[in-house]
Amino acid sequence: MAPTITRDIKVAAETLRAGRLVAVPTETVYGLAAPIADADAVRAVFELKERPLFDPLIVHVAGEDDARNLVATWPKEARVLAARFWPGPLSIVLEKAESVDPLITAGLDTIAVRCPDHTLARDLISIVGPLAAPSANRFGQTSPTNPKHVLDEFPDADSLVILDGGECEGGIESTVVRIDQSNRCIELLRPGLITPGEIAEALREAGIERDLFDLSGEFSGASNNSEEDAIPAPGMLRRHYQPRRPLVIVRADAGAEAAHLSQQAAAMIGAGDSSLIVELDLDGSPLLAARTLYASMREAAEREGVEAMFVRRTPERSGEAWTAIWNRLERAASAVVGS
Ligand code: AMP
Ligand code: MG
Repeated sequence: MAPTITRDIKVAAETLRAGRLVAVPTETVYGLAAPIADADAVRAVFELKERPLFDPLIVHVAGEDDARNLVATWPKEARVLAARFWPGPLSIVLEKAESVDPLITAGLDTIAVRCPDHTLARDLISIVGPLAAPSANRFGQTSPTNPKHVLDEFPDADSLVILDGGECEGGIESTVVRIDQSNRCIELLRPGLITPGEIAEALREAGIERDLFDLSGEFSGASNNSEEDAIPAPGMLRRHYQPRRPLVIVRADAGAEAAHLSQQAAAMIGAGDSSLIVELDLDGSPLLAARTLYASMREAAEREGVEAMFVRRTPERSGEAWTAIWNRLERAASAVVGS
């Protein structure tokens, strides 16, 4: 039997109270949620996703007060960032409170907290308490940005309830930053729609001068991740966000012939017929490109007869606003061609 889709938040709350999982809409992607107080349900999140236990979950809160209960200390940097960016797509990593189940944090002494900018998600959290929620997809696959995507990921999860909040506005996962109090610096662990420039500006305006180190690029690239113990933060695997058909990044000008680019892509992955390699539709505006990225990847991969996809990396699609999009595409891609 398939999961149930509902718009009724009471049904979602009852499902969670009964110990079953709910896929929750947020402004980034849909999350697969369990109340943090329910260890069995949290374990079920890892099991359903087939997610390794070394990959910690982000805890979603209704506001700053919730977050403060989950961390050992709530420093000034956190106060400033939460005031500026919450509710919104910024996950803040801090030393965790002892009460937080280590299952959620993969045994780390830190926890990632975030307040989602989606009324349904926040209302649900207000009813049942903070929710541990990774993206609602099988591990390593493309994140879902609407209820149908969740259904496609877990077609047989009969006890799962999907809370229908429509299409996600943001479309890619949150920016993750770690506030390192001992070294008095901020580390960017995952790029997202909130950029390092915006974070630095918010801190500066509050009179806080902190070095901001970008650790997110260290493990980018299309090759397989073979040295997992060298990962600076869990979850920063090179291969992630995988579509169901191979994706090739082709460096090219906006005006280059699509047919020529698909031939390049075909040669790269050893495909015989380049007409079966389709171009991924990517909007020219980074905000819209992020919003539709995963839906486009799914749509292209599912098209009849399609063998692979390529996405064109043009000079126009660069700069800080595109960083998170290329971060996801590089991890989703099997290969990169072109100069
Ligand atoms: P998602 O798969 O979108 O739920 O993202 C969860 C990601 O957030 C993880 O894979 C990590 O990259 C990051 N994260 C969560 N908790 C922590 C933590 N305590 N320390 C560092 N990164 C974390
Ligand atoms: Mg994920």
